[in-house]
Amino acid sequence: MVSTGKSIAPSFSFLKQLEDKSGQPVSRCYQCKKCTGGCPMSFAMDFNPNQVVRLVQLGQQERLLKSRTIWVCACCKTCADRCPNGIDISAVNDALKDMAAEQNVALGDTMVPAFHESFLASIQRHGRIYEAGMLLGFKLKTKAYTQDMGLGIEFVKKGKLKFLPEKISQVKEIKQIFEKAKAKEGSR
Ligand code: SF4
Ligand code: SF4
Repeated sequence: MVSTGKSIAPSFSFLKQLEDKSGQPVSRCYQCKKCTGGCPMSFAMDFNPNQVVRLVQLGQQERLLKSRTIWVCACCKTCADRCPNGIDISAVNDALKDMAAEQNVALGDTMVPAFHESFLASIQRHGRIYEAGMLLGFKLKTKAYTQDMGLGIEFVKKGKLKFLPEKISQVKEIKQIFEKAKAKEGSR
């Protein structure tokens, strides 16, 4: 929940910065909560979608950049379809993720960004997901070696986890996309 009982000093410069970066009219939000009512990922979030928007309006940058919500948003855009003010909260979350990465914010929950990094590394290397390699990378990053082990064994038994990677034919192009994205990031 957003309420902590502490007083909050709003920062309008952060609201402006976030609106520019995300392209979303966050200041129009009047807290009808239609976004949260339809969000399929709210069960896993520490702040509901409407609360993310409210925290942006209040300039609560630090709380948002450390939030689990920005990493678990599935970018399904249900919130954007439901919002009477045309606010796409996935774009807001993307902008917040960018800021968190740019500022090297240490997240309270290291599992979610570690999963993202392992996922992207697999795509960059193979052009698609190589589950066994991605899981190994994830385990090395998080050191949660035994977590979900039972599930992993079930996957192996059912032949869902291939031990050797399969690459797509255009891996080179995929790598170029990653290089361009990194160059763009560096030039900001
Ligand atoms: S649906 Fe739109 S206006 Fe309503 S709370 Fe969510 S972001 Fe705000
Ligand atoms: S885009 Fe993200 S915040 Fe919006 S409904 Fe989907 S999961 Fe929830």
